Amino acid sequence: MYIVGLTGGIGSGKTAASDYLALSYDIEVVDADIVAREIVMQGQPALQAIADHFGHHILLEDGSLNRAALRQIVFANSQQRKILESITHPAIRAAIQHKLSISTSPYTLLVSPLLFESGQYQFAHRNLVIDVSEELQWQRASTRDNVSAEQIKQIMAAQLCREERLKRADDIVINNGDLAYLHLQLDELHQKYLQLSVV
Ligand code: ATP
Repeated sequence: MYIVGLTGGIGSGKTAASDYLALSYDIEVVDADIVAREIVMQGQPALQAIADHFGHHILLEDGSLNRAALRQIVFANSQQRKILESITHPAIRAAIQHKLSISTSPYTLLVSPLLFESGQYQFAHRNLVIDVSEELQWQRASTRDNVSAEQIKQIMAAQLCREERLKRADDIVINNGDLAYLHLQLDELHQKYLQLSVV
């Protein structure tokens, strides 16, 4: 089982990169953001633990998590945020580990916007950073319809700065060009990861 951690700032091209490797080479992708949503779905123990601690008003009428209400509580109170994280982080880690363990592709991508910040890099044998200039990052992140400038700023504030992220990278893809340029770099890295995965 060979794991490549894939990270980058908001709008850097993580999804563009992982979609390409998945579609072109059948590489399996474990997406930490998706896992984080799955572990608080109805019927999951983490959702029960959240409701037990924060009160059942944190659930919507249909029993699903009221994310907006929870966000409001933990945004204003770091102690409550830590309690929330003490519930969610172990569940996320366990779910990631399980998904990685059942992957059957020659190597598996662990895509996480907070790979280094969350400690999830520890699952990976190598870390790939998708890097983009700040100007292009803003352009690409803000042309998507569902994020405001304020949200982009908040997300960037929670992420490592670009220099720090680059320092921790084993491999770097520069996503300042068109998609063909991104794919070209990924083609080379794919060959490298295939070789590394059999060693
Ligand atoms: P997030 O952290 O917000 O999930 P991300 O790192 O996954 O973002 P993507 O969603 O892959 O980034 O890319 C951001 C936007 O930029 C998307 O609309 C994507 O189609 C576009 N994009 C990515 N790479 C390129 C490129 N090389 N040329 C043109 N557009 C690109």
